[in-house]
Amino acid sequence: MIDVEKIRADFPILSRTVYDKPLVYFDNSATTQKPRCVVESLVNEYYSVNANVHRGVHFLSQQATELHEAARETVRAFINARSTNEIVFTRGTTESINLLAYSFGEAFMQEGDEVILSVMEHHSNIVPWQILAARKGISIKVIPMNDNGELLMDEYKKLFSEKTKLVSVTHVSNVLGTVNPVKEITAIAHEHNVPVLIDGAQSVPHMTVDMQDLDAEFFAFSGHKVYGPTGVGVLYGKEEWLNKLPPYQGGGEMIQSVSFEKTVFEQAPLKFEAGTPDYIGTTGLAKAIDYVTAIGMDNIAAYEHELTEYATRRLKDVDGLRIFGEAEHKGSVISFLVGNIHHLDMGTLLDRLGIAVRTGHHCAQPLMIRLGIEGTVRASFSFYNTKEEIDALVDGIKKVSKMF
Ligand code: PLP
Repeated sequence: MIDVEKIRADFPILSRTVYDKPLVYFDNSATTQKPRCVVESLVNEYYSVNANVHRGVHFLSQQATELHEAARETVRAFINARSTNEIVFTRGTTESINLLAYSFGEAFMQEGDEVILSVMEHHSNIVPWQILAARKGISIKVIPMNDNGELLMDEYKKLFSEKTKLVSVTHVSNVLGTVNPVKEITAIAHEHNVPVLIDGAQSVPHMTVDMQDLDAEFFAFSGHKVYGPTGVGVLYGKEEWLNKLPPYQGGGEMIQSVSFEKTVFEQAPLKFEAGTPDYIGTTGLAKAIDYVTAIGMDNIAAYEHELTEYATRRLKDVDGLRIFGEAEHKGSVISFLVGNIHHLDMGTLLDRLGIAVRTGHHCAQPLMIRLGIEGTVRASFSFYNTKEEIDALVDGIKKVSKMF
């Protein structure tokens, strides 16, 4: 069970005010707030352990390396990967997808080949493939959805051809909240011998994810969305796949030997980690993972589900409010519009009441085109949010509505 008051005490920012109002933070899909233990980990490591990793014989370097590699093990256990060799540290989901698009594209895709995406992808799972399309002449196929925001699986099955080289879809939509059936999506791709990349940016913070159960070849997520620091993320890849892929960037750390005639690369994951990694960040991410693990991902999922149900019920009572995304399986994200009120006006006026929501296209413009709108107001919940805060949101929306 979640003891929300106890949890809130771990997040100093949640007790601040904005415009003299208590902060209500409902922008958790964009980034989450950080518990004290994560911030202290960053400060303490800089104060007492800081040294560059992997290369040093001296004490501090070895201690920093141990922390960095222990963080890799923490991530491995958290997502139930088989080996730490399957955990590549990156800057975040965006870099993970760019890495894969470049590297997979280089090794396995040629002109005329196809990648399957879905209509609800974040730009970070669209644009890297478009860059690859421009470089290599591949094309992009798109899985459509129904009006509830659920992917049309029969249409998905029809998109495969002998040219299909990869499927890349989001686990949870950052706009609609839809939890996609990624295990089924993966199994169908495997029937065609096609590997799969899952964008887990919006799933990892909210539910248990298990790489061995999911069976996708690749999976990406961001540390800052799972209560960790900014600037660190993960690309998971099955070891046999990572070892088949060429490096994304060259430099230190990713080589076994270099001469002007020939360079021998490291195996995965170091092959993909050129340069000094964000070793302070990876330790902070491990602390964040320890923190959510101690609460329990299943407890988090159950509590956030309860909050989302409550919010949905209350929001549906507001005159003229339309919710976008009513999938049967939904995460803790609610996108909405009220009457003809522009999303930006709603967001700006809610902000004056101390309520932080996100407005706009949420980096999913193709989805906005599908919905026939320019943008939405989005409230996204965390396990540190409360029903009282949802009441404040509903009251705020009513107040703003009266002004129009
Ligand atoms: N994918 C999804 C579904 C997201 O919601 C986001 C961020 O909001 C990203 C990818 C990109 O994450 P980041 O900016 O941390 O790289």
